[in-house]
Amino acid sequence: MQLFDLTGKVAVVTGGNGGIGLGMAKGLASAGASIVIAARNADKAGRALDVLGELAPAVAFVEVDVAEEASVNEMIETAASLWGRLDIVVNNAGTSLRKPPQEVSIEEWHRVLDTNLTGTFTSCKAAYPHMKAQGGGKIINVGSMMSIFGSPVAAGYAASKGGVVQFTKSLAAAWASDNIQVNAVLPGWIETDLTAAITNHDLPGLYERITARLPAGKWGKGDDLAGVAVFLASAASDYITGVAIPVDGGYSSQGI
Ligand code: NDP
Repeated sequence: MQLFDLTGKVAVVTGGNGGIGLGMAKGLASAGASIVIAARNADKAGRALDVLGELAPAVAFVEVDVAEEASVNEMIETAASLWGRLDIVVNNAGTSLRKPPQEVSIEEWHRVLDTNLTGTFTSCKAAYPHMKAQGGGKIINVGSMMSIFGSPVAAGYAASKGGVVQFTKSLAAAWASDNIQVNAVLPGWIETDLTAAITNHDLPGLYERITARLPAGKWGKGDDLAGVAVFLASAASDYITGVAIPVDGGYSSQGI
């Protein structure tokens, strides 16, 4: 058995046009999967397709707003029809909001929850009939350190990412008998657009505080998520479902 071989598989990666999603898509592509990246920004997706095209047997971009159920349904149906199958779904698209909880409007709350948590639900739900009909599949949901810890400045984000892990466990239990494995990945501090305000030092002292608390002594890159994506998308993880794997340079293993 080729444990990590994804030849002939088709993967959808939401938010695969940059950051962590692109890192995971590059891993899946290098292991042989055809890749559909799904996001809103088509220009950014064009640049990602150039990179992925060098690695994958086939690549495509589908425009989606994961906060809209109809858009997510269309994404999954398009992806499944492109090359006639759907094996892997990575629910990575996400957004954050940095504000004390008492200042968060209901619209802001919904934007974060609808994108991070409800978008994961609608995507998994739409993928299920395809995976069941095919005899199995792999779903990877992207959580965060805020799936474990609370945050005084990102309560909605933490609630959504905590929810992603509990939702992942629930799907794992519900769909194990369909041979669909559902797992989560919890990135630590990764240099992407989402964390640019910290890495650019717009928030004084925060970058230094985080880096000092990191056992690895450095932030991660999107490419650091490639290996875990291949593992959770491949036969190597066929008896693993419902887990949440930190990829964090040791951040969550250390109390102080
Ligand atoms: P990026 O901002 O680089 O990536 C976020 C991606 O999500 C973009 O590609 C964006 O594409 C897409 N996206 C956002 N909203 C929507 C939407 N409504 N519909 C479709 N796509 C959407 O940040 P990261 O790579 O860092 O984030 C990826 C995931 O990793 C997120 O879930 C994030 O919460 C999580 N994460 C990141 C950490 C970090 O340190 N960077 C730590 C822990 C978790 P577009 O704008 O084109 O739609």
